[in-house]
Amino acid sequence: MDVFEPAMPILSRLKEAGHHAFIVGGSVRDYIMHRPINDIDIATSALPIEVIELFDQVIPVGIEHGTVIVRHNHQSFEVTTLREESTYSDYRHPDSVSFVDDIIKDLARRDFTMNAIALTPKGELIDPFHGQSDIQQHMIRSVGQANRRFNEDPLRMLRAIRFSAQLGFSMDQQTTSALLKQRSLINTVAMERIKIELDKCVSGAHFHQIIKKSVTIQLLRTLPIFKDLNETLAELSVSQPFFALVDVFVYLTMKNSALNVTSLANVYRFSNKEKVIGQSLVDCLEAFKEGVMLQEIMYHLDYHHIDRFNRLLMALYHHEFSTTYLQSLKRALPIQSRQDMAISGRDLQMMFPHRQRGPWIGDILELLEKKIITGQLKNQQEQLKEWVKWSYPTENV
Ligand code: ATP
Ligand code: MG
Repeated sequence: MDVFEPAMPILSRLKEAGHHAFIVGGSVRDYIMHRPINDIDIATSALPIEVIELFDQVIPVGIEHGTVIVRHNHQSFEVTTLREESTYSDYRHPDSVSFVDDIIKDLARRDFTMNAIALTPKGELIDPFHGQSDIQQHMIRSVGQANRRFNEDPLRMLRAIRFSAQLGFSMDQQTTSALLKQRSLINTVAMERIKIELDKCVSGAHFHQIIKKSVTIQLLRTLPIFKDLNETLAELSVSQPFFALVDVFVYLTMKNSALNVTSLANVYRFSNKEKVIGQSLVDCLEAFKEGVMLQEIMYHLDYHHIDRFNRLLMALYHHEFSTTYLQSLKRALPIQSRQDMAISGRDLQMMFPHRQRGPWIGDILELLEKKIITGQLKNQQEQLKEWVKWSYPTENV
């Protein structure tokens, strides 16, 4: 129970005010499995307005669906009012949400039995759909009728696949056949929701195994981009898990010159930041393929992405560098950016006072930068100036 300590003051406050309060969702599942937990979600009989009144720091993120974020000790907790959902006629949102005072009804609207277990503040598990037994059997099973549950919200099909990629669980027979039957409905789901699940799926520790399974292949084949890959989908079975969906697109771009990481990323509405990361990984992998020195590649690669780059190198070219080695190469570079160079554009201009400002300055700086990174020149102003004078004896730079 220690892992839930940060949430206890919130549960106590709700109880003191006369409400029921439980910990629900993924953190309960992960706790039962002795896995590290992510966010702690709380379900309560208090109405959103009552939650807002009880706590000082609240963010009303989805009041109409009953969710309020409560901030406590610099941590966020999603506090959601116990609710039942009606039908989903647009495949996106339930037609109506009604608040209830019954945890069992709230658990019944959840996707899989392993995600439909509540934990009371005293540490008792409420498990009406036998989620613990399914966890023990490594089984993903829909709460209620899988066909109906996937029809209500087709994203649940992709969630089933992503949980099997993360946990290594299998799907029970009814869940599998419902998924195969209804898979085309996945395209009615908003791309933003699909992307969140795909990110978690491809970075799952068991992704390399589940990508070979027919049920995964069939569902992915109904999605944009993946549907064009056909039999090459199984090639995504790589020994090191991908970091995120963008890494899969980098991998595909490197394998197939007709593809372009940015246009793949556009289809899944990636943020600009992710597109920049994707392009930078492609540039660095291209450089590696062309035999550019590792020091130079590391210079251009953000330190935080070295591990992703290394995993991709392994997947594409079976190269086994250790990530710490690549990180140490980067740290040992004589400069980390152009600002660290002992010579500036201004210095160069002063060396050639009669030349107009222009691209020549950037060209020389780039050349010097490369020579410094690869150890051909020391990052000392005198030496750099000497080299420039020697290389460009006249003003015809
Ligand atoms: P993670 O550890 O990756 O966050 P999680 O199980 O907490 O996994 P979330 O997407 O955070 O997944 O959802 C929290 C809980 O809300 C789930 O455990 C499940 O009970 C419920 N849930 C989420 N999405 C759905 C859905 N589409 N249909 C039904 N229940 C859902
Ligand atoms: Mg969660």
